[in-house]
Amino acid sequence: MTNEELWQSALGEIELSISKANFVTWFKNTSIISNNSGRVIIGVPNGFAKEWLENKYNLYILRSLRNIQKDIREVSCAITTNQPATPKETFGIDAVIAPKKQLNTVLYVEKKPEISQENNLNPRYTFDNFIIGGSNELARAACYAVSQNLGKIYNPLFIYGGVGLGKTHLLQSIGNEILKRTPTSRVKYITSERFTNELIDSIKNQRINEFKEYYQRIDLLIIDDVQFLSGKEKTQEEFFHIFNYLHQLNKQIVLSSDRAPKAIPTLEERLRSRFEGGMIADVSKADFETRLAILRKKAGNDGLIIDNKALEYIAENITNNIRELEGALNRVAVSAQLTNQEITLDFAKPLLSELISSGKKKGVNHTHIIKAVSEFYDISPEDLITKGRKKEIVRPRQVAMYLMRSELNYSYPGIGDKFGGRDHTTAIHAYEKINQELANNTKLNEEITCLKEHLYTV
Ligand code: ADP
Ligand code: MG
Repeated sequence: MTNEELWQSALGEIELSISKANFVTWFKNTSIISNNSGRVIIGVPNGFAKEWLENKYNLYILRSLRNIQKDIREVSCAITTNQPATPKETFGIDAVIAPKKQLNTVLYVEKKPEISQENNLNPRYTFDNFIIGGSNELARAACYAVSQNLGKIYNPLFIYGGVGLGKTHLLQSIGNEILKRTPTSRVKYITSERFTNELIDSIKNQRINEFKEYYQRIDLLIIDDVQFLSGKEKTQEEFFHIFNYLHQLNKQIVLSSDRAPKAIPTLEERLRSRFEGGMIADVSKADFETRLAILRKKAGNDGLIIDNKALEYIAENITNNIRELEGALNRVAVSAQLTNQEITLDFAKPLLSELISSGKKKGVNHTHIIKAVSEFYDISPEDLITKGRKKEIVRPRQVAMYLMRSELNYSYPGIGDKFGGRDHTTAIHAYEKINQELANNTKLNEEITCLKEHLYTV
């Protein structure tokens, strides 16, 4: 089978699993440029597509390729252009995307974690320093109950919810609690990705039996982020056997995922029903009081002196997830330390302005929107900004105007300016039209979601 044939039949399958709009947008002009010893490199037209295929569609791609050719293990993308790509050009594409990285990942300072090599537990994650609120009450209670009745009540325990909402913290708390009480317990925390890699290595090195025996001796097995098992058939199969073995012996299994078991694509039915066979609890976004309590606790733990108003300001404005919340506090703390100042509201405000309010938060501005929209709809930024009343251009232009308003809160005259000095009424019309249509046009909805996700996650 040639690369071309392989890719065509994989595409046929991918097309069935994702929306048409996404399929056309991301898989247009792609090809397999090499396929060697289990590694496939897909050629894509730009950095935008590379990001999406590698991050969002990697599993779909890998799964469909493996359905056709079993030994494929890894997929990555490379930007190909019709002209021979000079390193400079490729760099240009990446460089435009790079500055949008999350600020708080750069500034996040954390004390060196003392993670155990043996069980992968970080002693920092305990029930004691987990703040309980409406958003995590049930999950926390279930985890705590499990830690007090190992293997006896909820088995498996399945915790799910969005990024940075405390899943890993809760899972690890169970492990730490068990070891505190019974240091001889055999506890293992592992992410599903690492579990998969270890499994693959053990197969390669003909040590699969050792691998299985190791896992079968465990009293508490914690597997984090099991959504990554999606599409990994062999891993799912082995995991299924280990699961059953432990379960029969009333050994405790705790799992987490970013979504409920039924929403994990290509999870083998028998494994899904195992996951659903115990207790399922979710964590959701924390409310203001919980966010404030988390900040207080953290500030207290770090011995930080911080004005109450400043803490409230952070809790009010950083709402997405707890990791960002901690990032914001760290940012303020570090600046105060460096400049030897007290942390007041006035001190904190300007430091956080970039992190606050959706668009501004990640340093997104109108040029990012124009770039994203023009790449998304495959038209040039010039066409988008200036000439043309053709439908293919008018629509994306309205979308771009809509995003400038909804995400960046630009004024209508301001938006008009960014589009070659158009009248503010054009901007109002665009915003209202898209806004109205969003209510019942799922395709448009999906496109806007895609664009937003891209703006904020790249
Ligand atoms: P997830 O695994 O859901 O992505 P994490 O467990 O890694 O999220 O949480 C992100 C950060 O937020 C961690 O540093 C964690 O300690 C902290 N955190 C989350 N929820 C709470 C909470 N309720 N109380 C205290 N800290 C929390
Ligand atoms: Mg986690």
